[in-house]
Amino acid sequence: MGQPTTVQAEGPQDDPRTAGVRASGPVPIGTPTVRPAFDDEHPPSAELISDCVHCGFCLPTCPTYTLWGEEMDSPRGRIDLMKAGLEGAPLTDTMVQHFDACLGCMACVTACPSGVQYDKLIEATRVQVERHHTRSPGDRAMRAAIFALFPYKRRLRALRGPLRAYQASGLPKVVRSSGLLDRLAPKLAAMEGLAPVLEKREKLPSRVPAVGERRAVVGMLTGCVQGEFFPGVNAATARVLAAEGCEVVIPRAQGCCGALSVHNGRQEEAERFARATIDAFEAAGVQTVVVNAAGCGSSMKEYADVLADDPAYAERARTFAASVRDVSELLAELGTVAERHPLEVTVAYHDACHLGHAQGIRQQPRALLREVPGLQLREIPEAEICCGSAGIWNVLNPEPARELGDRKARNIASTGAELLVTANPGCLMQVSSSLQRQGTRIGLAHTIEVLDASIRGLPVSTLGPQ
Ligand code: SF4
Ligand code: SF4
Repeated sequence: MGQPTTVQAEGPQDDPRTAGVRASGPVPIGTPTVRPAFDDEHPPSAELISDCVHCGFCLPTCPTYTLWGEEMDSPRGRIDLMKAGLEGAPLTDTMVQHFDACLGCMACVTACPSGVQYDKLIEATRVQVERHHTRSPGDRAMRAAIFALFPYKRRLRALRGPLRAYQASGLPKVVRSSGLLDRLAPKLAAMEGLAPVLEKREKLPSRVPAVGERRAVVGMLTGCVQGEFFPGVNAATARVLAAEGCEVVIPRAQGCCGALSVHNGRQEEAERFARATIDAFEAAGVQTVVVNAAGCGSSMKEYADVLADDPAYAERARTFAASVRDVSELLAELGTVAERHPLEVTVAYHDACHLGHAQGIRQQPRALLREVPGLQLREIPEAEICCGSAGIWNVLNPEPARELGDRKARNIASTGAELLVTANPGCLMQVSSSLQRQGTRIGLAHTIEVLDASIRGLPVSTLGPQ
């Protein structure tokens, strides 16, 4: 029998939270060695890691660094951990904790003057973590439940009835004011608090004709959470696109785009969803695919990376990714033709991270909103910092997510706007719950719902300002 391994563990910095991250020192011959953090199958790229010059410009925009002030919870610190992993350090629980804590908001990508592609680095790292790290039974069960529910429309739809009955029963008030669920099951309490008040579902046809002259034929992603929890957003998207001269094709065969799987390192699942999405839109014969959920659009634009190793899909994934447009991006490209009616309302526009940071789409939604007569746009302080939603991050990390949400809600309230507008269902749920907790009465809407109301000449009250 061999001796116990004598790998000496020491952190790369003085931060006690990184203890055990870097392995060094003598390893006697014939003894079991510690497995390095990453295998050879697409580990985070050493070349991309070397682009980081440690300037620290990204630190003030990183939500976890803002919360905790820990180097290892900053982009620079996480890049150092990846480097340690590439150099042979084992994948310790501490290391995983720092990677897991990253919201994937990509504010650091926007802030970095050296062009460090942290997005590619963290996504490669997450795949390695899922492959090599054994999570606690509780964490595994929670993740299994989330991934068995959210990417599946039919299961979400089945939840609508019980959720509506619960919301109508008055129980939510009792549950929240007692604080019992918060104490007993904080992650469940987070989910309970985030659930939006469900609107009636509007069934969309598989094809919506263009109004007037046809200027484009586009496919539309309906999404999972968007489709089941915010069906009004999809209906508004189809109406606005049609009003702007697009024939809208809505393939029945479409399912989840895989955004949550892509952003959480679940590689095989992400590949499966990506292939099915490509199949569905190729069969629909559309050249452009329009998306109204920032997280979905950002992951669909990454399909070329997701399916790079699949000879049957690699080329198709590149073509598909190039055809994806956020709805505001497409409308800005086409140029708007439908008449806008006035909406006398002050709007605070919140950049969803996966629209602003990940896709670089900031000006298009603002320009579209400014085209609405009477609408006044206000900027939110600290706009670059995430609201704490980040896909499923707010469910897995309820306390820090609440802190980030409360900070965002204070900044939104400081604008004095009557309506908060954003372009992602996760942000709408997170911000709504934070504003409610803070007692701020303000309407919430997706950008496309504002345009829809303006084109149809609906009153501002339909958007819910108080
Ligand atoms: S993605 Fe967001 S949370 Fe993660 S390191 Fe970058 S700024 Fe920080
Ligand atoms: S990621 Fe960019 S901004 Fe952050 S420390 Fe490295 S080079 Fe500087």
